[in-house]
Amino acid sequence: MAASLLMSETLAVDGSVLIVGGGLAALRCAQGLRDQGFIGSITMVGDEPHLPYDRPPLSKQVATGKWPVEKTNLVDEERRAALRVDFVLGTRAVHLDPDRREVTFDDGSKRVADRVVIATGATPRRLATGADVVAHYVRTYENGLQLASSLSGPPKRVVVIGAGFIGAEVASSARSLGHEVTVLETLAVPLSTVLGEQLGSRCAALHERNGTTLLTGVTIESIEAGDDGTTLVALLDGTTHVADVLVIGIGVVPNTDWLNESGIELDNGVVVDGALFATDTVMAIGDVARFAWTRLGATSLTRIEHWQVAADHGQFAATGLLRGRAFSPAIQLLPYFWSDQYGLKLQMLGRPELTDEVNIVLEEEDGKLLALFRRGEALSAVFAISKPKQLMGYRQLLLDGCLYDEALKLLNA
Ligand SMILES: Cc1cc2nc3c(=O)[nH]c(=O)nc-3n(C[C@H](O)[C@H](O)[C@H](O)COP(=O)(O)OP(=O)(O)OC[C@H]3O[C@@H](n4cnc5c(N)ncnc54)[C@H](O)[C@@H]3O)c2cc1C
Repeated sequence: MAASLLMSETLAVDGSVLIVGGGLAALRCAQGLRDQGFIGSITMVGDEPHLPYDRPPLSKQVATGKWPVEKTNLVDEERRAALRVDFVLGTRAVHLDPDRREVTFDDGSKRVADRVVIATGATPRRLATGADVVAHYVRTYENGLQLASSLSGPPKRVVVIGAGFIGAEVASSARSLGHEVTVLETLAVPLSTVLGEQLGSRCAALHERNGTTLLTGVTIESIEAGDDGTTLVALLDGTTHVADVLVIGIGVVPNTDWLNESGIELDNGVVVDGALFATDTVMAIGDVARFAWTRLGATSLTRIEHWQVAADHGQFAATGLLRGRAFSPAIQLLPYFWSDQYGLKLQMLGRPELTDEVNIVLEEEDGKLLALFRRGEALSAVFAISKPKQLMGYRQLLLDGCLYDEALKLLNA
């Protein structure tokens, strides 16, 4: 009885928080705690040897050599001092005991805190390759450095497996450097599972318009080392593509292995409630969290791998930690992502998967467009290619829950 009362108490303002994972969501949570007057101890333990840094530039400015990778750092000395976070780097969590709020690390150490926040993100899904094959995956600081190094110098044959957002961005970066780029995609229409076929085909056209060869509906048979440092990507249709540089971008899996024995519910991520709590004292945020989310009348478990969502989760979790599970409302969130490809900015607000119909309501010859997604009578999402002002015009309407017909009227106003 006493224990359960204790558990449901709110976090004391001078209590302790252990954040596992050293990425964007973790950082925003720590910042949120300090902004809201938390004076207790915050320890952030991450397995990378770096302070938190920003991942989106890795496939864009870092890949093209426009930015040194150091420019992605999110914490300078001044910020570090203001945060008063005990950063523990290069240390991997291997087990969580949620009842004791105790995390065990790969160096054998254990840490206990009043609250534990899981922010361990996600890792690229791997493809089996033959020995000696160098395949680039783009997730970490080191990945960004290695990709930039491989893409520097004279024109090369770059093969990208996967035409999702990361693959498309790498293809665009490589083309901007003058490389010969081939993208291999399993789906008949890239991004159709996210955007639908109509918009997916518009994204496919961006590759073709910019001199990237896009092959869709392909199945990879094998990836083996060729001569002179090349890689041979063989397809089921009998063709083989020779790569000087091979990049694989076929999605990510949440980093939950370390929680397998914890008793915390795992199902394609850490399952948390609408306020991001897994238990009264353990929260999960960012790419690793699968959270209960109610929008447009439907509650679903959702895991979203976007920068803005990770940042919002971090901020929101800080409030949740201080209020306690019993007093925390469900997260109010308008998912947003962007992707930079071939000099254009692709942006999405809302939930495209909750959709009955997609309509391109504005389109220009250079690929710029605006599309509205309808779910029943409601506007469920808005997608734009280089129409940022028009897209953001729908932000408040989406938050307020707007009728699709009202959204159309705004367009003609
Ligand atoms: C190349 C790239 C480009 C992107 N571009 C865009 C974009 O244009 N727009 C957009 O909306 N989103 C983009 N994203 C997505 C966005 O960056 C992520 O959604 C965001 O980084 C998620 O933050 P996070 O803190 O949840 O996870 P992460 O940033 O993955 O941080 C998790 C951290 O936890 C560490 N960790 C994992 N397991 C353990 C463990 N057991 N113990 C200790 N530490 C552990 C990880 O190594 C990592 O450092 C991009 C992502 C990548 C990789």
